[in-house]
Amino acid sequence: MPVVYGALFALLLWAVFSAVAALSFMLVFLLVVMAYRAKQLYKLGRWLSEPRPETIPDGGGIWDDVFSSLYKMVKRHNQTKQKLADELQHIEQATAALPEGVVSLNEARRVEWCNPLAEQHFGLDVNSDILQDITYLVRQPEFIQYLHAGNYAEPLVMKAARHEDMVLSIRLVPYGGNKHLLISHDITQLERIETMRRDFVANVSHEMRTPLTVVNGFVENLLDMPDLSHDKIRRALELMEEQTRRMDHLVSDLLTLSRLENDHSPLRTEMVDMKSLIAEVYQDGQMLSDGRHQYSLEMAGPLKISGNREELRSAFTNLVSNAVRYTPDGGAIRLDWALHSGHPEFSVQDSGIGIDAQHIPRLTERFYRVDRSRSRETGGTGLGLAIVNRIALRHHARLQISSRVGEGSSFTLVFPENAVEEK
Ligand code: ADP
Repeated sequence: MPVVYGALFALLLWAVFSAVAALSFMLVFLLVVMAYRAKQLYKLGRWLSEPRPETIPDGGGIWDDVFSSLYKMVKRHNQTKQKLADELQHIEQATAALPEGVVSLNEARRVEWCNPLAEQHFGLDVNSDILQDITYLVRQPEFIQYLHAGNYAEPLVMKAARHEDMVLSIRLVPYGGNKHLLISHDITQLERIETMRRDFVANVSHEMRTPLTVVNGFVENLLDMPDLSHDKIRRALELMEEQTRRMDHLVSDLLTLSRLENDHSPLRTEMVDMKSLIAEVYQDGQMLSDGRHQYSLEMAGPLKISGNREELRSAFTNLVSNAVRYTPDGGAIRLDWALHSGHPEFSVQDSGIGIDAQHIPRLTERFYRVDRSRSRETGGTGLGLAIVNRIALRHHARLQISSRVGEGSSFTLVFPENAVEEK
């Protein structure tokens, strides 16, 4: 509008004065208009470098509309940017919380991004390893082979490079065309359980097979030789009975252990009368020893503790039975129920064959035996101390073992101080 007014005024000047006057006026007028617009553009440029509502320049006229439209645009842009940044942070937090390691690989198998767990599993550094070839960073041959084979249906199980005892299950998942997600899962614990399970099945099968083979042999003999004397048949049946008793013992120990290890059978406690319980255990031991040992009992501990009577009896009897079985005739066995520094303690000391220090940490493993044949000869299953240890754990007690080869052993169950409190 100002230019139109200026032009009309110039026409008026032309009509009244001359064309030169009109053109001169128009020239000066346009210069003023251009200077004004340049000033507005300069203000706009400055404001755009830091667009805030309170600093919107006062343009006047059409400039006001331009400034406020631009401001709205910038505001919308900032909001979108903030929303995207929030979402990105959200995704980053979610992937950091994933129980799996995740590495995103581009078309050239270079690292685009990874979460903290993947950094641990593969020894990556999210700051310095971006856009590095994954095969330079994870160099195990089995991994490189897996990557090149291109068959990712089955996961790869391998050891972590920097932690030898960590076992990883790795999977490559294609996405977005030719990109891949490398997903790693720490299966160390699962592998350990699986190995234990395999060992356990192998051990049980082995333990069962030995008596079964013996019984089988006798049965075949009896079938093949129908004319055997009565005495021989009787002897064979006695030996078979011994083996079946052994199997029975083994199965009952296995069932006890399985019940104790079952998380769904919580410990039912009561205040157990220790005097009568230990008297029973003592008598059982006396029967087993059958006068072959100097056998004694010291009763100075609390009269009652909180626990499960049946389980405590089983643990104590196992310890006493071991002492009898691993102490040669004439040796001494002493049972002791005492209170030490507030802790109730049940201990069984013997002057038996003793145990070499290297075996002591492993004695509570299932089927661990120092001398296999001696354990078997005396009717052992290799599960006794595993049962004792399990019962100790359920009672928040500790099993302490000290021993010297040729001198004897001492097995002590140390109960928590609060076991004497009525619950
Ligand atoms: P087992 O049925 O073989 O006795 P346990 O679990 O009760 O199984 O004991 C594990 C092993 O610990 C035994 O095989 C034996 O070698 C050793 N052991 C346990 N108690 C004694 C002891 N009092 N003296 C010597 N060795 C023992």
